[in-house]
Amino acid sequence: MTPVTAKSRRGAYSQAERAAGRPMRVPYGPAKEHLDKLRAMGMTDTAVAAEATANGFPMHQSTVTQLGRKFPNIHRDTEAGILSVPLDDSLACDGKLVDICGAQRAIGALMLKGYSLNWLSQQGYIYADAGHAGGCNGSHAFRVIEGRYKTTTMGTFRRTYAAAQKLEESYPLDLGMALHAVSRSKNYAARNGFVPLSCWDHDTILDPEAVPEWTGACGTWDGYRIHIRESYFGGTEIPLCEACRQAVETRPAEPDRFVWKPKAFAEQVDSSGTSLKRLADVLGMDSDAGLHRWRGGEYGPKYRSTVERLAEALDCDVSDLIDEGWRSQQKKLEPVKPGEFNPYAARIVLELAETAQAKAADLIGVSHGTMNNWLNRRTVPASPAAVQKLAEQMGVAVEAFYG
Ligand SMILES: [Zn+2]
Repeated sequence: MTPVTAKSRRGAYSQAERAAGRPMRVPYGPAKEHLDKLRAMGMTDTAVAAEATANGFPMHQSTVTQLGRKFPNIHRDTEAGILSVPLDDSLACDGKLVDICGAQRAIGALMLKGYSLNWLSQQGYIYADAGHAGGCNGSHAFRVIEGRYKTTTMGTFRRTYAAAQKLEESYPLDLGMALHAVSRSKNYAARNGFVPLSCWDHDTILDPEAVPEWTGACGTWDGYRIHIRESYFGGTEIPLCEACRQAVETRPAEPDRFVWKPKAFAEQVDSSGTSLKRLADVLGMDSDAGLHRWRGGEYGPKYRSTVERLAEALDCDVSDLIDEGWRSQQKKLEPVKPGEFNPYAARIVLELAETAQAKAADLIGVSHGTMNNWLNRRTVPASPAAVQKLAEQMGVAVEAFYG
């Protein structure tokens, strides 16, 4: 009698299964095709293996990676495991690759609260990429913060975001972090423009193009006003964000105007056969001296209505004489520098303190014109004492008036 060995038992079982139309080994083709789709979705082999294991088909990442490389056939369980991983993108599989910005913003927000990268790593709050779950060292997190990686997996992002949401509620000093480490983290975060977690939501945190939303209206004059109101009129301090600065501070203060085209004007005059003298009459001017200057390009008409009358007299279009898109072509202003007098904030403070500009000028003993120049960014107060006085009268901290 032939002894029944494990090998022959397997052989018998395998033969029986094959006879029943359920072969143990199957061609790798269908599994490979499915795997390629999963990879195209951004899933890593590690994540595919983890997902298959969770679905009841224990599998190591190397099995996935080597699929079809050595043998034309694979075990049917391997195939079943691979096929068990859904292609549904909306499941947001943990293995999907996402932009690094989400993890970066979550960690940045924690640093702003004072948590250090080392502490976060040691406590297991931030992780290395999938496959290394269970913590990582501070230098890995530092590379995330520095933006050295372009992407991470959805799983890593989700764990990091969950940690950030949990730790937002606590203070690092209460959790035993040292004071010097807390200040160092806070300073680093502030220097690098990290913002609180509350500035992001699920839709924006993973979008590299999104700007942090501090006020609910960031990037508008209203948003700017909310920053000032919250910071100096009894709210919590929410420093001016970049979007608000750009929206308000870089916009040229001058009213809409146009660019005069002297050469085009000269051509129109020549081709129409009209004299400057006659044009001066049409416009009700005493002499044509001004028109000669317009023609020479020294300066142009001030009002659009004048240009309209000119165009009528010359039988041409207004756009033949001026460039309308002047505002958009105009050079943007620089945002107010730190420590510089901030006319926009000053205007909002006056408005919130319900004080007219003239009244404010009277209160601190400067002329109305001086105050107007300050508030329209034409001049800055020569003495800090005047600003100090203004702050006292308005009942706000003097910092409110500086960029
Ligand atoms: Zn803002």
